[in-house]
Amino acid sequence: MQQSSLPKLSSAIERTPGSAIRAIYAEASTIPGCIRLEAGQPNFPTPAHVCAAAERAIEEGWHGYTAMQGLPSLRERLAGKLARVNGIQTDTDRVIVGNGGAGVVGAAIFCICDQGDEVLVPDPHWPNYRTMVALAHGQEVFYDCPAELGYQPDLNRLESLITPRTRVLVVNSPNNPTGAVYGPEVLRAMADIAARHGLWIVSDECYDQIVLEGTAVAPTMAGHADPERTLNVFTFSKSYAMTGWRVGYGTGPQRLIQAMAKAVEATTSCVSTVGQKAAEAALDGPQECIGEMVSAYRRRRDLVADLLRESELLRAVPAGAFYAMIDIAPSGMDSRSFCMRLLREAKVAVAPGGGFGAGGEGAVRVSLASSDEDLVEGVGRLAELVATAR
Ligand code: PLP
Repeated sequence: MQQSSLPKLSSAIERTPGSAIRAIYAEASTIPGCIRLEAGQPNFPTPAHVCAAAERAIEEGWHGYTAMQGLPSLRERLAGKLARVNGIQTDTDRVIVGNGGAGVVGAAIFCICDQGDEVLVPDPHWPNYRTMVALAHGQEVFYDCPAELGYQPDLNRLESLITPRTRVLVVNSPNNPTGAVYGPEVLRAMADIAARHGLWIVSDECYDQIVLEGTAVAPTMAGHADPERTLNVFTFSKSYAMTGWRVGYGTGPQRLIQAMAKAVEATTSCVSTVGQKAAEAALDGPQECIGEMVSAYRRRRDLVADLLRESELLRAVPAGAFYAMIDIAPSGMDSRSFCMRLLREAKVAVAPGGGFGAGGEGAVRVSLASSDEDLVEGVGRLAELVATAR
């Protein structure tokens, strides 16, 4: 059959670049003994009591669909967690459970965006936002969060990007890939900008409890932003090392939550019922696991910072999430070429900063969700390559 007669794919998906990390991941998987610092998931197992609850749920017959918005019993617990941990007052009608934080952010973008609507996305950014906006036929517009500002948003520039087509401001703190955590004054300023221009805010707070400095929980956008125009998004993936369970949640105005429930119904019906029961157990059970993981990330962050202090390659000391951006600009290479060379010559896999947007170029992201030994060895080899290539 001739190539030209094949049915076409959507232009939206065609114009979306594939994940830069995936290419590194695929090649790294073929290299025996490779040090893996590219992944974005905790290197801890899901707590045993959560796994036990999932087994119980299977035995007890939790096998069917749940409400599209999520089990009422889970949403009740989530409203409690949001009040207790994040200081967000909400109720079960304004909470939705989604397939990870990704599912929640995606459902929101699909429900908000009309064709050509502009979505303000941080740069550097979690690349999934770009794909979501493309699939919603929106237009991403990047606002700078430059290394010189400690990866905080350049607020003047942000406001200057707003046009009559701007519909959504995506905020991500603690940030992937930079580890930046925005303080209350920055969040308030962003909320004010959104209010002045009638924008929705999608506040991705998926790393809310992975905080490496100061408070145990990151400041939330809630309390600064108008609750009628704001969605706050969270997940079990990071705090409870449950990436594969696919349980995230959001709270926002009822009309948005109801719209998102329609999107969930159409695409996935609901989140895995066993996963939702496991999530209930995560909230009911001991919470020490979070602090233990965060202590490990903090220790590794300090290890990496110490290693790089002399060479001044750490772009900013991460205050949250579990990533560090390392400067590779002195090597004279672009981030993709550097990562490939590091992989092939030194057997170390890291994520190219350019995969997180133009603002990430000249740097690579290492994941602190790796063993101390791997981090010390891997970052050491990385610094050596920068020095040799200089
Ligand atoms: N938001 C950010 C910034 C992330 O880095 C991730 C995962 O890496 C997510 C959301 C979504 O995670 P999940 O869908 O596993 O909850």
